[in-house]
Amino acid sequence: MNRALPLSPGATIGVLGGGQLGRMIAMEARRMGYRICVLDRDARCPTGQFADDVVVGTLDDLESARCVAERSAVVTLDTEHVPAEVLTAISAVAPVRPGPSVLATIQDRAVQKQFLDRLGLPQAAWATFTDDAELAAALGRIGAPAIIKARRAGYDGKGQARVEHADGAAAAWHHIGSPPATVEALVRFAREISVVLARGVDGQIAIYPIAENVHRRHVLHTTRAPAPMAPAQRANAERIATTIAAALDHVGVMAVEMFELPDGALLVNEIAPRTHNSGHYTFGACATSQFEQHVRAVCGLPLGDPRQLTGAVMVNLIGDLWSDGEPRWQHVLARPHARLHLYGKLSPARGRKLGHVLLLDDDTDRALASVDELLAALQS
Ligand code: AMP
Repeated sequence: MNRALPLSPGATIGVLGGGQLGRMIAMEARRMGYRICVLDRDARCPTGQFADDVVVGTLDDLESARCVAERSAVVTLDTEHVPAEVLTAISAVAPVRPGPSVLATIQDRAVQKQFLDRLGLPQAAWATFTDDAELAAALGRIGAPAIIKARRAGYDGKGQARVEHADGAAAAWHHIGSPPATVEALVRFAREISVVLARGVDGQIAIYPIAENVHRRHVLHTTRAPAPMAPAQRANAERIATTIAAALDHVGVMAVEMFELPDGALLVNEIAPRTHNSGHYTFGACATSQFEQHVRAVCGLPLGDPRQLTGAVMVNLIGDLWSDGEPRWQHVLARPHARLHLYGKLSPARGRKLGHVLLLDDDTDRALASVDELLAALQS
């Protein structure tokens, strides 16, 4: 198989994990003429519905991952929760982008936070601990309220516990199963933003307009882009994100989530070495979506134009919306500037991300103001 860069249309891209990110990578990749081979435990997963080939297996199963690598010219990820050892092993079979070392740094929160400290980038005060005494000592330094986060496999608030007072900290940690964890100060932020960018094999970087994010119960609720922002503040956010991407030698799309404090200071919350929910607006509002951009990066192509063509608000559709039956989609479809994405998930469990709506409107205040009414109409 010819693996010289760039990989041309017709080549197969392996995707480990079959969720909505892989699905939208597959949609864009197949539009461009690439083939997709996905690994997931369920052949009917969101990505499987758009793939040429599915290997059924779990993400920690080396033989299944190797099978994908053997069929692919390059392997990439839908999720950062593929064990770095699996990626290292299969990189002897096909290039893995982003590389295993990126995942090894990101997967463990403590290692990620040490990496940020080494780069001198700002983040909330934090500590790692392994028992009740260490937790108490850490809280003595950091203070309460604070948030305990499992070092591994946490996302969307899973494996997290908020601590109001130092006395209740150990109980809160035991409540989430006493995993190896970090504890960090609760940040009184003015707002949350994220920088979504892509970095090519040659180190070229393309940055999307900055996203302003609102979370509900630790899960992303809305994204507005572009985030209203002074140029110097935008440059600061972009500097932080590009410093991280370059230091990781990342290849592909990456998102850096940040807290903006009332005085304008920025703290890094989390690095996601993959396409990101806060970048979904690019798929419809930008000249090149984050998913095409990811394909371009991992195939060694020049990056596309990240320019935003219209203001946008993205609203996530969470499983709870299905509690009284199928939402009344006509309320989205009747809006000429709304775009509906449903991920083809077979069970609309509460809390799961099942789709999103993109509202295309240069007046993003107006679009944001219409979100509650839209969600209520969907359930009416
Ligand atoms: P995470 O899974 O760490 O990205 O957290 C999900 C969301 O929880 C964040 O986007 C914030 O809304 C909230 N959160 C996480 N960590 C903190 C913190 N240290 N202070 C305040 N809010 C936080």
